Amino acid sequence: MSRDNQFDVIIIGTGAGGGTLAYHLAPSGKRILILERGDYVTREKDNWNPQAVNVDAKYNTKELWRDADGKELHPHTNYYVGGNTKFYGAALFRLRQQDFGEIRHHGGISPAWPIGYDELEPYYTQAEHLYQVHGNRGEDPTEPAAGKAYPWPAVSHEPRLQHLADDFAASGLRPFHTPLGIMLDEKNPRLSPCIRCNTCDGFPCLVHAKSDAQVLCVDPALQHPNVTLLTNALVKRLETDSSGREVQRVIVERNSELETYSADIVVVSCGAINSAAVLLRSANDKHPNGLAAITWVTPTPY
Ligand SMILES: Cc1cc2nc3c(=O)[nH]c(=O)nc-3n(C[C@H](O)[C@H](O)[C@H](O)COP(=O)(O)OP(=O)(O)OC[C@H]3O[C@@H](n4cnc5c(N)ncnc54)[C@H](O)[C@@H]3O)c2cc1C
Ligand code: SF4
Repeated sequence: MSRDNQFDVIIIGTGAGGGTLAYHLAPSGKRILILERGDYVTREKDNWNPQAVNVDAKYNTKELWRDADGKELHPHTNYYVGGNTKFYGAALFRLRQQDFGEIRHHGGISPAWPIGYDELEPYYTQAEHLYQVHGNRGEDPTEPAAGKAYPWPAVSHEPRLQHLADDFAASGLRPFHTPLGIMLDEKNPRLSPCIRCNTCDGFPCLVHAKSDAQVLCVDPALQHPNVTLLTNALVKRLETDSSGREVQRVIVERNSELETYSADIVVVSCGAINSAAVLLRSANDKHPNGLAAITWVTPTPY
């Protein structure tokens, strides 16, 4: 394989997971390849047009998926640089301590995570700064302990919501501001990237003022000469060595051709469903049901 196709790290997907990781690793100088099946969201008036976004589903994938009974469904998901953060509501909550433990749901048991909230806390703080989260620490009675204040004050309520919040508070409840990742500067409206338009959740931000993974992570990561992004690059499967445990090749479909890339570390961060799908498509002799069934060894910190 030519050196052009060999990297230190391959990151599959540019959403909240892959984009943020690329941003963090970019200054390391390691050769990083980011593979993204989609392209950039076109900046156009339709970004803020409810007819185009909600009714015509202009930006949603046109793929058809099947549910457990084989019935077809249109997934409400988007394949672009920045992943679903291009469209998300930017409500950026931390998980609660108890979310890391075993949880009994109606449909079964969600096992405990191998790490707890305390280990992640410093990274939540970093992420809240990177994603410019606006909020008031201490207002939310369910909020877990946090090392630092939010980097920005909470987004003020619309008058009607403020009225509701006042009424709830008067009746003894504890309403709180949703922590939001938008680049709104209410003290300096003239300079504020966010203009507080009347679309946000579900819509790409026409003025690039939503804290999404393309604007805040992938674009800055690409300023580093060691980082390469391939768009319209669909990862078809991962190929392993004969032990079945080490990924040797990443097979990518681009411009209707198959290409092969390799790296010391391959990060599968293409969303919950597509990450599972890539691993399931990566079946081999040792793992006929795909790589998803393997118990992975925890890698040494990079
Ligand atoms: C309308 C909407 C509103 C939301 N609102 C909120 C909110 O307010 N707060 C919140 O916390 N979350 C919200 N979410 C959820 C949030 O966006 C996701 O949880 C988050 O983006 C997941 O990050 P991810 O990196 O796992 O995946 P994604 O962001 O989905 O990124 C995965 C990326 O991988 C790419 N990809 C997929 N398959 C392949 C492949 N085979 N090869 C190469 N690339 C591939 C995709 O194109 C995509 O860019 C919302 C989601 C939507 C759709
Ligand atoms: S301008 Fe502000 S409110 Fe409107 S979509 Fe962008 S981030 Fe959201």
